Amino acid sequence: MAKIKFRIATPERVVYESEVDSVTCPTEMGEVTILPKHIPLVANLKAGELKTIQNGQENYFSLSGGFLEVRTNNEIVILADSAEHAHEIDMARAEEARGRAKKLMAEEVRSEEEYAVTAAALERALARIRVARRRHKDVGRTAP
Ligand code: ATP
Repeated sequence: MAKIKFRIATPERVVYESEVDSVTCPTEMGEVTILPKHIPLVANLKAGELKTIQNGQENYFSLSGGFLEVRTNNEIVILADSAEHAHEIDMARAEEARGRAKKLMAEEVRSEEEYAVTAAALERALARIRVARRRHKDVGRTAP
């Protein structure tokens, strides 16, 4: 079966590059799964979880927004503001970020802008925590 040439890049680095069978990611239109031979598409990404499947094996990444581009010839490029593989996520850091954002949101809101910035930080932290938990589940499954 045809494979997808897949890459996740941020302004800092190439986070992941591989041939995969499918990519599932959170767009502003909802979650989409892209299989080989998909028509060209550009979509805005939301903060959340991205999943690839490669020979039956799942790989998870956290995304903090960006763009999805599905090109002709089975090629997908994700340009993300930031992205981490499940194994790269520092859970304590993400939990701290979540706590900070929640505390700020519970306080008196100073402006809509500040609220939006804090809500976005919370979304990033929640995405990281969700993806990092997948890693812990994986460890649980594979440990004897
Ligand atoms: P924090 O408040 O903890 O800095 P943030 O959401 O403001 O989090 P970003 O601006 O999205 O962080 O990312 C800055 C850099 O730090 C990126 O390279 C991102 O991949 C990395 N990063 C952020 N949080 C984590 C985390 N919990 N684990 C690993 N890398 C992280």
